[in-house]
Amino acid sequence: MTAISLRNLDISYGPTKVVEGVSFDVADGESFALVGESGSGKSTVLKAIAGLAPDWAGEMSVFGKPRGHGTDRAFAGTCQMVFQDPYGSLHPRKTVDSVLSEPLVVHGIGNRDSRVAETLAAVGLDQRFRFRFPHQLSGGQRQRVAIARALMLEPKLMLLDEPTSALDVSVQAEILNLLKRLRREQGLTYLMVTHNLPVVGFMCDRMAVMNKGRVVEIAEATALRDGSFDHAYTQELYAASGGTQHDGHV
Ligand code: ADP
Ligand code: MG
Repeated sequence: MTAISLRNLDISYGPTKVVEGVSFDVADGESFALVGESGSGKSTVLKAIAGLAPDWAGEMSVFGKPRGHGTDRAFAGTCQMVFQDPYGSLHPRKTVDSVLSEPLVVHGIGNRDSRVAETLAAVGLDQRFRFRFPHQLSGGQRQRVAIARALMLEPKLMLLDEPTSALDVSVQAEILNLLKRLRREQGLTYLMVTHNLPVVGFMCDRMAVMNKGRVVEIAEATALRDGSFDHAYTQELYAASGGTQHDGHV
């Protein structure tokens, strides 16, 4: 089964088309990266899949279901997004408990107390964090809460938009290791934006390289071992990254 299928996807903000003719498939259970320099349209592709960039044309389906242009409550049970900035994505006056309970309330799911406790444990947070507010957490702890929130409805697919790039270097590896473990334990599919090629080598099976709104190359992550890429732009990115492998201990 294909988790995500994009065909000739164009995405615009007002009169400006920022993504053009993007096509790729992500397999069920795969970890797939979107790489490319800032402004190349990576976040916009994730937002369109999530329903947050409604002005798109082409074909887009998730687990075989065509995506519509509006919001779709059932979709939240299949696909969740984690944003770059855990400071901005958590409401400052809501406790961790209320952030994690909210999706369950909205979707009429019971057993909330034990589900919140289990999910906190799954992301490596002690129960004493449950009644804290975001300002009482470190950046890494906040991103763990944002990941826990995304897991509450037991989705199959996670859209991860540079999930570690707003964090201190010392906590980036912890969060990458957490995401890697969660994918293994819960059989998740990841579509992950990053501008960090070593992170792709550590976390992903394949990657699509974007440049100026287009996909210029789709490659196996193993190509990062020796930089055997077809497209000159990918070779440039590889050279700029120093061509190093990421071992999860930055
Ligand atoms: P990336 O994630 O690769 O850095 P983005 O998808 O955020 O790139 O942005 C792609 C292009 O779309 C950029 O030129 C950016 O300025 C523009 N853009 C992003 N978000 C908006 C928006 N909400 N309104 C108008 N233009 C936007
Ligand atoms: Mg972005």
